[in-house]
Amino acid sequence: MPFLSERVGTFTDSVIRRMTRISNEYGAINLSQGFPDFPPPKALLDRLADVVYSGPHQYAVTFGAPNFRAALAKKASKTINRGIDPDKEVLVTCGGTEAMMCAMMTVCDPGDKVMVFSPFYENYTADAILSGAEPIYIPLVPPNYNFDINLIEAGFKQGAKAIIICNPSNPCGKVFSKKELEAIGALAIKYDAFVITDEVYEHMVYAPKKHISVASLPGMYEHTITCSSLSKTYSITGWRLGYLIGPEYIIDSCKKVHDFLTIGAASPLQEAAVCGLEFEDDYYKELLQTYTEKREYFLKGLDEIGLKHNVPEATYFVMLDIQDFMNKPKFAGWSDLEFCEWMVKEIGVAAVPGSSFFKEPINNLIRVHFARQKETLDEALARLAKLKQYLD
Ligand code: GLN
Repeated sequence: MPFLSERVGTFTDSVIRRMTRISNEYGAINLSQGFPDFPPPKALLDRLADVVYSGPHQYAVTFGAPNFRAALAKKASKTINRGIDPDKEVLVTCGGTEAMMCAMMTVCDPGDKVMVFSPFYENYTADAILSGAEPIYIPLVPPNYNFDINLIEAGFKQGAKAIIICNPSNPCGKVFSKKELEAIGALAIKYDAFVITDEVYEHMVYAPKKHISVASLPGMYEHTITCSSLSKTYSITGWRLGYLIGPEYIIDSCKKVHDFLTIGAASPLQEAAVCGLEFEDDYYKELLQTYTEKREYFLKGLDEIGLKHNVPEATYFVMLDIQDFMNKPKFAGWSDLEFCEWMVKEIGVAAVPGSSFFKEPINNLIRVHFARQKETLDEALARLAKLKQYLD
């Protein structure tokens, strides 16, 4: 048998997406992979229906359809607090996933070091491996998920070329404060390094916390590649529309990587999504209100069952602490993956094992999410209540 690359032997498929497949197989309620079970805004659907007949159906401009890039630039100018040039500083990708991969491949040569917070969104490990970068992990320490800035300085001293920030953070729901971002930014400037920031949950930040784009801080734009997507903001995870924003000298090179990775994102979907990017502020307020209510409802339900959990400052993810279960003889020696597989089959709810997000060896956390209609959340909570008998 001929050999495949060593590279493909060094990482597994995504456990998040694997849990969705297992969930589908057993007909469980899927609280693992983060996507909503309610429809996108009607305006997007109506526009998509028109586009089916009016087109476009052929390739868009590789770097993104001009009207889509113009709308993105206008929206991002508000968050980043400066005029963004749609031709030079925006690149449309196939989802936030390609945006991150493209940023990593643009910044890193094989052997370069990149700092990644732990817990991290699991794609970053594969992104690092595929781009040849070696991750240096910086712990975010529960319960507040604080970090030690000295470790970041030590990472830059070791030659780290970039730091990846997921802000707001998947899976722990941390919102990086202005002070924290300024401290990281000052080091990126001091050591002439990049900040790659993943901000796909930028519109799901619960009061009193506020989202701050690191690229908006003084002196940071030139050092920052901002990755985001329309998936969560407009409930269109299947449309695979993401983007990169950054200074021209970086985006120029990202464009080449993207051109040969995917050529471009789906042109009819870019056309249909333009109207979403043009929504007024009311839309984002309502979205946040919806998720604020869902968060309160779901967390209250978890409290009533007696399941221990964090309180996310942002995103729709919640980490459940399953240590009390793991201490019971029934679960002795189980991994968190085994626990999640058992939960799908016996409880009928799918979650993601926490070990998929941590460098540290942990098996006491699992991730669930509440991007679900009220009826689905009710059924999920009723099923999760069955867990309690295993603590008696
Ligand atoms: N970001 C979402 C999650 O963490 C979905 C990821 C994906 O599968 N693209 O579950």
